[in-house]
Amino acid sequence: MEFTDRVLKCIDCGAEFIFTAGEQLFFHDKQFTNDPKRCKQCKAKRASSSGRARTETRTTCSECGTATTVPFKPTQGRPVLCRSCFQKQPGKAPARGAKPEILYPTTAALAPTGTPGGGGLDPS
Ligand SMILES: [Zn+2]
Ligand SMILES: [Zn+2]
Repeated sequence: MEFTDRVLKCIDCGAEFIFTAGEQLFFHDKQFTNDPKRCKQCKAKRASSSGRARTETRTTCSECGTATTVPFKPTQGRPVLCRSCFQKQPGKAPARGAKPEILYPTTAALAPTGTPGGGGLDPS
């Protein structure tokens, strides 16, 4: 089977991109039946934004000092609790100004944080 470069249109940004013969061969090998739908940029964008990019930040629990990782960027100066301390928290709202970050946020609290990655921490 022979392949020739084809021009496809990205469904995300509408830009035309080349579905090269080599890529078609690859798709054929993998028995993918669908043409790619997105240009490389949009694919890369989706890859980095889908699956809720894991931003794990190393920190220590401000209650017991245990090293822990949190799935968000802790705000400077605000206490972060490890899981067990978080669960020990009384239901009452903590003192003003010392509100702990929610370690396992509800979906409502999953607002995107400023700069992902950031400080050169290797998340792996
Ligand atoms: Zn695109
Ligand atoms: Zn703790």
